Amino acid sequence: MSGVLVYSDRDDLAHDLSAWAAAQREVLGEPTAAVLGARAAERAEACRAYGAVRIHVCDAPAVTDLLDDAVAGVLAELVTREQISVVLIGATRRGRSLAPRLAQMLEAGCVSEAVELGLEGRRIVTGRYSLGGNTISREWVRTPIQIIAVAPGTVERAVPGAVGGDLITFEGQVNASRAAVIERRDKPGLETNIADSERLVCVGRGLASEEDLPLVQDLAEALGGEVACTRPLSYEYGWLPEERMIGISGQKCSPKLLVSIGVSGQVQHTVGIQGAKTIVAINTEKGAPIFKQADYGIVGDMYEVVPLLTARLRGRRGGGAAMKASQPQE
Ligand SMILES: Cc1cc2nc3c(=O)[nH]c(=O)nc-3n(C[C@H](O)[C@H](O)[C@H](O)COP(=O)(O)OP(=O)(O)OC[C@H]3O[C@@H](n4cnc5c(N)ncnc54)[C@H](O)[C@@H]3O)c2cc1C
Repeated sequence: MSGVLVYSDRDDLAHDLSAWAAAQREVLGEPTAAVLGARAAERAEACRAYGAVRIHVCDAPAVTDLLDDAVAGVLAELVTREQISVVLIGATRRGRSLAPRLAQMLEAGCVSEAVELGLEGRRIVTGRYSLGGNTISREWVRTPIQIIAVAPGTVERAVPGAVGGDLITFEGQVNASRAAVIERRDKPGLETNIADSERLVCVGRGLASEEDLPLVQDLAEALGGEVACTRPLSYEYGWLPEERMIGISGQKCSPKLLVSIGVSGQVQHTVGIQGAKTIVAINTEKGAPIFKQADYGIVGDMYEVVPLLTARLRGRRGGGAAMKASQPQE
């Protein structure tokens, strides 16, 4: 058994993982990919520039909705038929639920959300957050087939190379899912991908009420950025959609500028801001852990500081009155 099969419901992740697998070809064997679901043929064509030698294409109606059991059935058949030893899956929400299901079908070991991926000799070694994000545990799979779900941003972003790789139409059995999609509804907030934003204003429980959200939204707008939040504001209070949540259970972000407002800086949150270039923190508590991460810190009440910052930025852009440097609150 050898070779890698790459799959993700997000094409960009599939490309990144294909390129990673192609770079490890000497050790891991041939990189192959599977593209399933709507417009599979067209998407597989785009996948050809990322190093996979074979790209299996399946657009059978049974996988249109990319439900786990139907997708896992197709991947399991490919793994068995091609004698694949490593399956890399993009750890999106769907990918995180697909990986263990596929592992169970193939009686394989599984790493459910690797945030580090590397080779030690001929062995794939992964890093995964454990103990509530306080530590990264090193894990590897000892079964002949290894299933690894890899978090977005773990491997380098792939750049397209020479177009190659054969497109192969999947002609095996495609079993319909036991679940059925009966309705689709748009989810508010999905239009925003804060993981790709260059400027973020992240707000935490220092915000006293939902009605005060315009305070941070105005600052984000003045900066030309997006609003993000800590877990309590999305999961617990429902003030902002979970797509805007940063941390171990949310998005991992690498903005050029992060303004962190009323955020204490617990590790479950800060694992999501490790890639930020410059962090400005505003907090009333001088000893708040967020200041250890911050490049610039303002000890102060967000309700006083944030309007001043917003006004100053708008003033600079000619959109309002600039604050005078002599104003005492500043
Ligand atoms: C398994 C697990 C997973 C988790 N995953 C995540 C995750 O992905 N993301 C996440 O964010 N959290 C996560 N958490 C929760 C995390 O541990 C913290 O509880 C959370 O990040 C705290 O959010 P916070 O900083 O908004 O609130 P708090 O910790 O309550 O901090 C609020 C801060 O605001 C300051 N403040 C108060 N008033 C003002 C004011 N007027 N002006 C300025 N500052 C003010 C306070 O001094 C304080 O530092 C997770 C927890 C667990 C157990």
